[in-house]
Order: sequence, then structure tokens, then C-alpha cells
Amino acid sequence: MASDLSRRFAGPADLHLHSNHSDGTEAPAEVVRQAHAHGLRTIALTDHDRTTGWTEAGDAAAALGMTFLPGMELSAKHEWRSVHVLGYLFDADDAALGAETARIRGDRIGRAERIVRSIGRDYDLSWDDVLAQTTLDATVGRPHIADALVARGIVRDRTEAFDGILHPREGYYEPHYAPDPLTAVRLITGAGGVAVIAHPVTAGRDRMMPVSFLERLIDAGLGGFEIDHRENTAEGKRLLRDIAARHDLIVTGSSDYHGTGKPNRPGENTTDDDMVQRLIDRATGTAPRFP
Ligand code: AMP
Ligand code: FE
Ligand code: FE
Ligand code: ZN
Repeated sequence: MASDLSRRFAGPADLHLHSNHSDGTEAPAEVVRQAHAHGLRTIALTDHDRTTGWTEAGDAAAALGMTFLPGMELSAKHEWRSVHVLGYLFDADDAALGAETARIRGDRIGRAERIVRSIGRDYDLSWDDVLAQTTLDATVGRPHIADALVARGIVRDRTEAFDGILHPREGYYEPHYAPDPLTAVRLITGAGGVAVIAHPVTAGRDRMMPVSFLERLIDAGLGGFEIDHRENTAEGKRLLRDIAARHDLIVTGSSDYHGTGKPNRPGENTTDDDMVQRLIDRATGTAPRFP
């Protein structure tokens, strides 16, 4: 979308924040207020597999003189790896993308119920406990199960739940349906958005997709990598910067804020102005909301 310099975005940018429309703990407007209080002036709301928070977040951002980029973190899967693909500025009414996110959200519910039934054989936990931790028909995930475990006094916080009961090694874990990353990139791009792989190089070598596969994603229209993220390894960041430079990709930095659900604070990583501008210029699906 051609950029209008008189409507330039407003500066310090954090392009990965979650609200209670997925697994963040705060309503979209509160997420925006927190971001503003941490000095941010450009933000994207990127709830997992849904876009229902855009209007509230956009309104809150406009009221605070901030620039708002609509976004989403689309669940994908490469072999056994869970892969998250951030999508920015795509058309929320795109039928193909909408059908896929509906399918993912639907499968996440059955999967969460199976996990809870399995945990419930060993701990005092029921599906109602989990429902009590979700709002607004949110995208259900393990964080909500973690919150139910906290409410039951079984663990202290989400971190303890993920390090223990929810860790795959404990045997309660189940995957949920998610598309192949190539499909995810094509869906976002097909809806006029820009696709950016979230936290692509977290600890554990097997969590990183092979470079040859990353190059296939680039050929399929991948726009960039989220490099400055607290869970990316130093070695992985160097590797990604190298690949991004070779392919002239967008690189972003973000907090992945989840309210009180994670230690990540808004603005702990930010995205450079020129990269925000490239994102905006590349998208055709929807415009950012300028103040
Ligand atoms: P799921 O998609 O249901 O498998 O759950 C994965 C989600 O859990 C991710 O979106 C993370 O935001 C969240 N998560 C992963 N590890 C942790 C952790 N240690 N503490 C809090 N949240 C976490
Ligand atoms: Fe999350
Ligand atoms: Fe993620
Ligand atoms: Zn995230």
C-alpha cells in the first residue's frame, strides 16, 4: 500500500502483543494502555488465530495518539514443531484465512478438553475450571489450562505449569490441528498481509526449521523474521540476520506481551522505523490506523 508520509506511524514500535481474545490476561484496550505507558507509540495486536480484538485495540490506540497495525499470530506446524506465523495488515474478511483460523480454534477446544481430561485423572481439575479462565470465546490454549491449575492451587503460576504438568514430557500434552507453514504464509499473503515468522530460533535446535525450509517459505512470499525476541538464541539471531540480509527481508523486534501471563514487558524489544515502514508499504490487505 503506498505510504502517505503525512500519516507516518508514530515511533517506538512493538509488533507482537496478546490480549484476552487469546491467551493474554488483559482486554485489548488495556494492552494498548500498557504499551503506551511503556513508551510505545506504534503497536500491533497479534492474538493467536483471531482478529476480534482489532476494533477495541484500534480505538484505544487512536485515543492515545498511537499508530495501530492489525495483526494475528497464526498457528502452524512443521513436522512435530509448533510454528507461529505473524500476519500483519491482512484483510480480516478473507474467506480462506477465516476458514483456516476457525478450523484451528475449533480443534484447539477439543484438544484442550482432552488435555484437561487427562490431567483430571491425576489432579483435581475439570473443564469447567478452564472455562472459568477464558473470556469472550477466546482462542483456547494451554495458558488457560495453566490459569485453571493456578486457581486450583496446583501450581503457582503459568511458568510453573509450563515447566511441569503442561510440558510434553509429563505425558498430558496433545497437539492441535495447524496448517503447514507454507500454507500459513500463503494464506496471510493471499489476504494482502505480510507474513513474519515469530520467534523462529528458540532454544533447542530441533525447534528451528531447517534453513532449506525457511528458504522455501521465503520463495512462497514470507516477508520477514521476528529476530529480537527474548526466546531467540544469540546464535540463532546471527543466523537469521544473515539469511534476512541475503534475501532482503524485514526484521522485527517485539515483546510477545501476554499481560500478567508471562514476564515479557511491552517494548522490551522494538522494531526499527524503517522496518515498520517496509511492512506498511508491502501490505495490501488493510491500512494501519494512524492517530
Ligand atoms: P498452545 O498453543 O495451547 O500449545 O500454548 C502455547 C502458548 O503458551 C504460547 O502462545 C505461549 O504464549 C504460551 N506459553 C508457552 N510457554 C509459556 C510459559 N513458560 N509461560 C507462560 N506462557 C507460555
Ligand atoms: Fe501465547
Ligand atoms: Fe508465539
Ligand atoms: Zn505470541
